[in-house]
Amino acid sequence: MNQEKIGKFIAECRKENGYTQASLAEKLGITDRAVSKWETGKSMPDASIMLELCELLKINANELLTGEHIIMDNYKEIAEQNLVEMRTQEEKANKKLMKAERFLTILTIVASLALIISGALIAEHNPTIGIILCSLGSLIVFLGIAYAVKMEHDVGYYECPECKTRYVPSMRAVVLAIHYGSTRKMRCPHCNKKGYHKKVMTK
Ligand SMILES: [Zn+2]
Repeated sequence: MNQEKIGKFIAECRKENGYTQASLAEKLGITDRAVSKWETGKSMPDASIMLELCELLKINANELLTGEHIIMDNYKEIAEQNLVEMRTQEEKANKKLMKAERFLTILTIVASLALIISGALIAEHNPTIGIILCSLGSLIVFLGIAYAVKMEHDVGYYECPECKTRYVPSMRAVVLAIHYGSTRKMRCPHCNKKGYHKKVMTK
């Protein structure tokens, strides 16, 4: 601990916060002589008033003992801010993908139903074209649903209702799972319990 550096730092923070040695001393219930001793590095503030002093100087105990503003604290704040922003962006992007997936599913069902129904109607007069239309319709259903399931698997995470673990399941688990909407009955990789796992957009 560099007492001189700490002393200079105390003086600097005191001035920044608009205190004189006397007014700071009064706030702390000590003599201005004591404040002067800290600032010249002759003594250190007692542990008993350190927290109060830090509060008045708007610094933390760590900074007081280091004798400088610690930028690492900002780093942490900024890092947290960035994390929140990243999550929001991921959530937005994932929500868009989920919407696209739902749209695709509906479009697939409508298009293939149209093909199958018209195929069935035409089959009476022209069996070959009827069969082709019906097969095409079935193929589109199959491909569309496979693609939608893959998209659902790739976007976001599933959350276990028991232990709240958020995870990406295997493609096989997603395909085989009973589901309603995007909630699927699966086994949790963390607590190993089976349950209905909800789709969530962020980890
Ligand atoms: Zn679990």
